[in-house]
Amino acid sequence: MPLLYADLVEVYDRLSSTTKRLEMTEILVDFFKRCPSGVIDKAVYLTQGRLYPEFIPLELGVADRLIARSISQAVAVPESEVTSLYKKLGDLGKVAENLLAKGKKQVTLQFFSGDRSREKLTVEEVYKVLDRIARSQGEGSQEEKLRLLSDLLRDSSPREALYIIRTVSGAMRLGVADMTILDALSIAFAGSKDAREAIERAYNLTSDLGAIAKSLATGGLASLGEAKPEPGRPIRPMLAERLSTPEEILEKIGGKCAVEYKYDGERVQIHRGDDGNVKLFSRRLENINGHYPDVAELASRSISSKTFIVEGEIVAVDQSTGEMLPFQELMHRRRKYGVEEAMQAYPAALRLFDALYADGRDLTLEPYPARRKALEGMTTESERISLATQRVVDNPRSLEEFFEEAISEGCEGLVAKSLGSSSIYKAGARGWLWIKYKRDYKSEMQDSVDLVAVGAYWGTGRRAGNIGTLLLAAYDPGEDMFRTVCKCSTGFSDEEIRNMRSIFEKSIIMHRHARVDSKLNPDIWITPSKVLEIRGAEITLSPIHTCGMGTIREGSGLAIRFPRFTGKWRDEKAPEDATTVQEIVEMYRRQLKKVE
Ligand code: ATP
Repeated sequence: MPLLYADLVEVYDRLSSTTKRLEMTEILVDFFKRCPSGVIDKAVYLTQGRLYPEFIPLELGVADRLIARSISQAVAVPESEVTSLYKKLGDLGKVAENLLAKGKKQVTLQFFSGDRSREKLTVEEVYKVLDRIARSQGEGSQEEKLRLLSDLLRDSSPREALYIIRTVSGAMRLGVADMTILDALSIAFAGSKDAREAIERAYNLTSDLGAIAKSLATGGLASLGEAKPEPGRPIRPMLAERLSTPEEILEKIGGKCAVEYKYDGERVQIHRGDDGNVKLFSRRLENINGHYPDVAELASRSISSKTFIVEGEIVAVDQSTGEMLPFQELMHRRRKYGVEEAMQAYPAALRLFDALYADGRDLTLEPYPARRKALEGMTTESERISLATQRVVDNPRSLEEFFEEAISEGCEGLVAKSLGSSSIYKAGARGWLWIKYKRDYKSEMQDSVDLVAVGAYWGTGRRAGNIGTLLLAAYDPGEDMFRTVCKCSTGFSDEEIRNMRSIFEKSIIMHRHARVDSKLNPDIWITPSKVLEIRGAEITLSPIHTCGMGTIREGSGLAIRFPRFTGKWRDEKAPEDATTVQEIVEMYRRQLKKVE
């Protein structure tokens, strides 16, 4: 017996009448038990308001305007009537229901035909039409969608029309969480919630509730087998818990752990299957190849395993220096158009942090150290692709130092990772195997500062052959020293970059100047002479810069995060007139107070 769409509509009605998870589970259990196994996958997707699992990049994508036109054609009323009713009701689904009910009443009165003996819609039929709507693309597709939708509405009852419209407009929102569906599947097909764990693992590894429902309905629990990752199907991401001190982290994680830079970019899961195609999935499991064709290409050529699933963070980098840029720069990639331009202007780099699958080997059940080793083995590192910077620590001090280093390198903080034998990849779970350590505050640097160039680095890419980055310092009048506070590569015009060599020509020296205090070793040393105006995001503690070293915390100096040249060469200032170390320390303290 085929499943009638009206039956599914009744389930929708019942689901929308409650917000209680237990009641929803019961409604679904009852439904799954009687749903024919051939359409259960489709029924599951439809209940979630979609046609396919999230990772299939096909969307119904029907705009409100087109929906309004379909309703108007289906019920033969002017489009203006549809739009004015929409303004009143605020829900195109209700508009369709309303107008269809009115139309049907008129037909009944006119022809005394009672209930029209139309064929009743089945779930299979509705799904087929919606699938054709989703797949219709390119020239003539709008007319095709319009025709398909209005025909479907003509064949449906008012209540069915309500849900069809809500489905095509992406407004189903029945409030059924994935977890509720998992509970219901377990009870319906295994008799109790006991099978929930096995079902959930399958779900976490395949991210496809419809396929799981179908497999349970046709072959029972045994058919799920031991779920394995499969390239092409995104794995639900493992997530981190959060703590706010190194002491707490070490205590929770067993005294010793690996800490990795927490990059401030976009998480990506990269798959390559037997067909050789590379697929990128976002944290929400959407396919994002369209935003990052360069990242797909980069991974494809730098990872040696024939088939693999790895995870990492996409970060925006400065073209000429390779340094990381703030996260917002990446968001240009999320625009609908102009990906090509954005790719040029905001090149992306990859920092890999996990390997989940390689050439038939399921790595998700292996502990973190083994996964990291596998990742190392399969990646050919270069400037644009590398493993997340990592260190193993066993005391709060080293952890804190590494944290400051991460911040001064433009990261958000650290992710501490358990090294224990049970440190598997827990797909879809937020747990204590990973603990993030982020800064709790963020504040803007109010004032710009005037800093002195004491060193420089050669540029790469478009800046090859020119100076691309300056090492900048604040002045310490007490000791008559210049102490480094940041490396700056942004804010310079192309012309300034071209002229940079001649600007500094006379000041270049072979060794660090005696009045310069630096832990860094730039490509070129410069006699302190030129002063530049700089604006940064904030001041942070840093183990690599010497400005204010030991003043706030032993072993730490201060750094300006995301420094940017304002365009002002302060030629009227002598290097001794630059912002002082003491001023930077005060700015840091003020920043802290503001946060408190
Ligand atoms: P947040 O907003 O803090 O990134 P979240 O909920 O997206 O939180 P969490 O699991 O809590 O994710 O934090 C870890 C996130 O940090 C990952 O989702 C990933 O995007 C990012 N990240 C950056 N570097 C790493 C790394 N080395 N290891 C793991 N995750 C990393």
